[in-house]
Amino acid sequence: MTRPAVLILLGPPGAGKGTQARMLEETFGLVQLSTGDLLRAAVAAGTEAGRKAKAVMEAGDLVSDEIVIAILRDRLAEPDCAKGVILDGFPRTTVQAEALDALLAERGQQISAAISLEVDDAAMVTRISGRFTCAACGEGYHDSFKAPQVAGTCDKCGGTDMKRRADDNAETVASRLVAYHAQTAPLIAYYKRKGVLKSVDAMGDIDAIAADLARVVRAATA
Ligand code: AMP
Repeated sequence: MTRPAVLILLGPPGAGKGTQARMLEETFGLVQLSTGDLLRAAVAAGTEAGRKAKAVMEAGDLVSDEIVIAILRDRLAEPDCAKGVILDGFPRTTVQAEALDALLAERGQQISAAISLEVDDAAMVTRISGRFTCAACGEGYHDSFKAPQVAGTCDKCGGTDMKRRADDNAETVASRLVAYHAQTAPLIAYYKRKGVLKSVDAMGDIDAIAADLARVVRAATA
């Protein structure tokens, strides 16, 4: 890669953005920036932003642009992000997309690609309701699609504390899908107009999708 890549993963909850972002992180030496993870950390730490975000997240609605943009701006300014970043779950509104354009312009950076993970909504509830992560290292698993080799033990780090997200229940997932279609899906057209939109079929198995995605990333950052 000639200059630090800025990749955006677009797609509804359950599309595999987090899983694929972690794989791209390893393959390309990039840094995954998940506003969902940053917000969950803020909630756990009990910061002011976290206290404001908690109920909104539990309802499956979007946290205010102001809070999310501030969190993303601070994280993007950390030195490790100079390696290049994969944005997972940001931007989610047009206001956030415009704020990102301004932030990158200030830093002399530009978007390498906005990659839309194409999935069927109907499959998303199943995908989300079976997922869990290792509390120690964050590796993601799924009851049906990606179970650990030894039940209850993380393949990556050997951790045995597995956690499920509070908002991964059928009712909240329905709200999150509504929020996605109303506020985030229009970004597909936004990035198409900018000439940086790519699409990947994300209904197959995790490794096949990762291979397709890696090809797209290689072409976009060559
Ligand atoms: P995620 O981990 O990306 O599924 O995000 C979990 C929840 O965090 C979402 O349902 C929202 O409530 C909130 N969230 C994460 N990223 C954003 C964002 N970019 N804008 C607004 N809310 C967000």
